Amino acid sequence: MKEHCEHQADCLKRIQSILDGGASEAEKDHFRQNMDACKPCIDMYNLEKCIKEALQGKVEKKCCPEKIAAAIRSGIAK
Ligand SMILES: [Zn+2]
Repeated sequence: MKEHCEHQADCLKRIQSILDGGASEAEKDHFRQNMDACKPCIDMYNLEKCIKEALQGKVEKKCCPEKIAAAIRSGIAK
């Protein structure tokens, strides 16, 4: 498990296209394989997913609201 991702910009793009439903099956497979090795990107994926669900108004209690609010304030959510 890597603590740092040297291709985080690419990972973020992939994460966003997966969450938007725009990723191909090949991209999703690649991402799933990547995720096992890439800790910051797993965190980023979970956070992006939480933010997206929060923005869509279907946030659940298991999602940590302070973290989402902080992320939105810091401009991660676009
Ligand atoms: Zn990564």
